[in-house]
Amino acid sequence: MKQTECVTIDGPVASGKTTIGKELAKRIKYHFLDTGIMYRAVTYLALKKQINPNNEDLLMQSIKNLNFIFIPNSTEYEINLDNKTITQHLKNPEIEKHVSTIATNSLVRSELVKIQREIAFSNHIVMVGRDIGTIVIPNAKNKFFLLASSQTRAQRRYKDFKKQGINLSLELVKSEIENRDKIDTQRKESPLEPAHDSIQINSDDMNIDEVIELMLNNIEKNK
Ligand code: C5P
Repeated sequence: MKQTECVTIDGPVASGKTTIGKELAKRIKYHFLDTGIMYRAVTYLALKKQINPNNEDLLMQSIKNLNFIFIPNSTEYEINLDNKTITQHLKNPEIEKHVSTIATNSLVRSELVKIQREIAFSNHIVMVGRDIGTIVIPNAKNKFFLLASSQTRAQRRYKDFKKQGINLSLELVKSEIENRDKIDTQRKESPLEPAHDSIQINSDDMNIDEVIELMLNNIEKNK
């Protein structure tokens, strides 16, 4: 299979995929897509419309009302539901509590993967998630898998919540991260795992610039 120019970044919760992916995309002038936001949007929709996650027909019908729009010349995008933006609601703890369960649903996954592949086919993109290097774009030229200890990741997520004015204890944040990782790693469909041809980077002792430099060097080598 011909390799695509896309860059994939996978990894567990709060491993730095979004921060690093966005910065990398800016540097190499690619689009950026955080696929987690799509699973979050479906979760928002299921909670808002009180759809039982097992009611696949209703869930699939409703997904059709979600719209993903890139904001030109930036690494940002908007998600609309019934023509209203819902982007600002997707990072809250209530969504986090349910998103990994929704993401185990194979119909939801195949619908979202279809959209992700269409985007990857027509754009140079840095795409981040859990299964991008393994399932969504297995023929991507540059694949990375980010790691960091659960303590480091919990501290990052704790600070993110605090910035949003959400005060949760570090212990609670850590246990929810570990719970989500467990569901994501152990699910049958597209579990979280490094692609066999990905470069694994542990960012515990690295700053953002160091991780980006490492990625850029590898991308350059692969040209
Ligand atoms: O990356 P983020 O924390 O926003 O992802 C939310 C959840 O969406 C993950 O915990 C995972 O259950 C699911 N997800 C997934 N596959 C992806 C991206 C996210 O299953 N490609």
